[in-house]
Amino acid sequence: MKSVIPLINRSYGKGVQKYLDEFAKLLPEENIVPASSIPIAERTQCDIAIVANPDPNDVAAFTKLKWVHSLNAGVERLISELDIPKLQIVRLVDPTLTDAMAEAVLAWTLYLHREMPSYASQQQRKLWRSLPYIPAHERKVGILGLGELGQASAKRLTANGFNVLGWSRKIKQLSEVSSYSGEQGLQSILEQSQILVCLLPLTKETDSLLDKQTLSRLPKDASIINFSRGAVINTIDLVDQLDKEHLKHAVLDVFDEEPLSKESNLWAHSNITVLPHISGPTQAQSASRIIAQNIRHYRQTGEIPGTVDKLLGY
Ligand code: NAP
Repeated sequence: MKSVIPLINRSYGKGVQKYLDEFAKLLPEENIVPASSIPIAERTQCDIAIVANPDPNDVAAFTKLKWVHSLNAGVERLISELDIPKLQIVRLVDPTLTDAMAEAVLAWTLYLHREMPSYASQQQRKLWRSLPYIPAHERKVGILGLGELGQASAKRLTANGFNVLGWSRKIKQLSEVSSYSGEQGLQSILEQSQILVCLLPLTKETDSLLDKQTLSRLPKDASIINFSRGAVINTIDLVDQLDKEHLKHAVLDVFDEEPLSKESNLWAHSNITVLPHISGPTQAQSASRIIAQNIRHYRQTGEIPGTVDKLLGY
């Protein structure tokens, strides 16, 4: 008999059906269905669930779960909301997403590096003026977070000639990337980065990491790219540093609240580029393939794939 795996999410919609269709093809030996369609008496038989922004009570209703596989790469909300100590959380690590993120980091780094915001503004003012050119190897790009996404982005940037520095909890040995860690390392990377890329998970330690004090450490006219989570940057402090012209530009793909409210002053800020959370899109086909592989591997070996450290928060 097929095992039943619930897909638990807050709002069942078209997006979820795409995953169910993929799973039906990829894992015919499992029965992956919306959680709500599973009779209450059968819920105690499930050992795995696939989750996407689930209501914690819906997860708790499956009392024998050993682990849940998230459809997302960022799992801060799952960690903070799911209060089931023994339940392990597996996040999505998808090379297709990683590649798209590295491409986005390169694209928006080039946007800043080649002064596109300034030239767009000059065009509006019919201003014919060249700005100083800085070769890529002289451009220091700091990456906060050297995990899956940070390392792939660092590789893409070094391949394009940038001078790359990275900050993580543990020091990394990466070709052509200067690696920093700890409080001292953070100060050092901030002081050097002309473009700062944020790819940190949102945890207790990284919440508002970039605030008035840390942002003011960046060199004058530095720019920021935030592709991780909105709350890693204190928005008021960021806008203040842009208004004071200490910082030059910010490319923001993630916000404290999403979608960004129409009333937000970020939309119209001349030194902010607003993106609608598109830097590292999850693609149903590749994500389903990864999740299917992880589930099949577990069934064959009993090994749960790499889980997140709930204490560290990522
Ligand atoms: P990851 O593989 O877990 O990497 C996290 C990195 O951050 C690691 O290098 C880790 O250091 C470092 N780190 C964590 N806490 C730290 C701290 N307190 N001090 C210093 N370094 C710290 O995560 P990932 O897959 O690269 O993803 C990063 C984040 O990107 C996700 O959590 C998610 O929020 C975001 N994301 C955004 C999008 C989008 O479309 N905008 C898409 C996907 C993901 P160690 O290596 O030493 O452990």
